[in-house]
Amino acid sequence: MSGSVRENAPPDPDGSADEPPVTRDRVVRALADDDTFRVIVAVTTETARGAIAAQQATGATARHFAELLTGAVLVRETMSPHHRVQVVLKGAGGRGSLVADAHPDGMTRGLVKRPDGDDDVTFGPGNSLLVMRGGAQGMYRSVTAPPEGGGVAEALMLYLQSSEEIISVIAVGTHEAEDGDHAWIHCGGYVVQLLPGAARGPLMVMTERLAAMPSVGELLANAGGNADELLAELLYLMPHAKLGDSNVHHGCLCDERAVLASLATLPREDLIELTIGDDVLEIACDYCTKDYAIRSTQLQGLLAPS
Ligand SMILES: [Zn+2]
Repeated sequence: MSGSVRENAPPDPDGSADEPPVTRDRVVRALADDDTFRVIVAVTTETARGAIAAQQATGATARHFAELLTGAVLVRETMSPHHRVQVVLKGAGGRGSLVADAHPDGMTRGLVKRPDGDDDVTFGPGNSLLVMRGGAQGMYRSVTAPPEGGGVAEALMLYLQSSEEIISVIAVGTHEAEDGDHAWIHCGGYVVQLLPGAARGPLMVMTERLAAMPSVGELLANAGGNADELLAELLYLMPHAKLGDSNVHHGCLCDERAVLASLATLPREDLIELTIGDDVLEIACDYCTKDYAIRSTQLQGLLAPS
């Protein structure tokens, strides 16, 4: 399949708008006509760029972070609607972590927690992957260890195999500029899930097809970063019906009330200390780095007996 590589617009600098911004980042879903499997494709280029810029991630950390954000979107999409999914990849020896937080409306954000004295979160033996999903029955948590030599995709695959009762193949990746400056051209991935009762024939065909597929980065490049084209490539000549199409975008949930609520959890002595200093406390959101100015009178309000 031929496709042109196109430039992506810079990420929305203010993802906190009420209306989801119009982006090329999308999730498309399809079902094979014989009901044997479903496919979910996500293009997350602008979402990943927005989160990477907000967290000032670089190098391998940026790539892992982008893959984790895509993985969180894909895992969320495998579940019933209205579920929020958070995926945390903890660095080896508990040194630093990457957090991806995917919301049902497509808003996705992330956090890079750097280990003390180090710019990068290290990966290798000793990593762990924590998946948390919220739903009607409360929060569900699952911890897996990535297989030896594996990356984010392998860890997510292990999670899906051990926690979800459905056979899944998940792939996430990025396509980088040739000069290797980590200016992401494309970011995305896919999940293929076998439906209960699927016969062996279609299963074998799909398994062989996926094994022969190029890397996600290459697929994204061929598809020009277009989710529909990527879906068409994965399901080439396989009869299927497209089920849905939704938006993904980088954003945040923070507002002054949330900042005050987090301050309210501080020990009383710490709060008193904060009210003594300047009239205004400058505090930034960990996810989007938006600055909030909290007046000391607001802090005093938190100290008032409730
Ligand atoms: Zn924020």
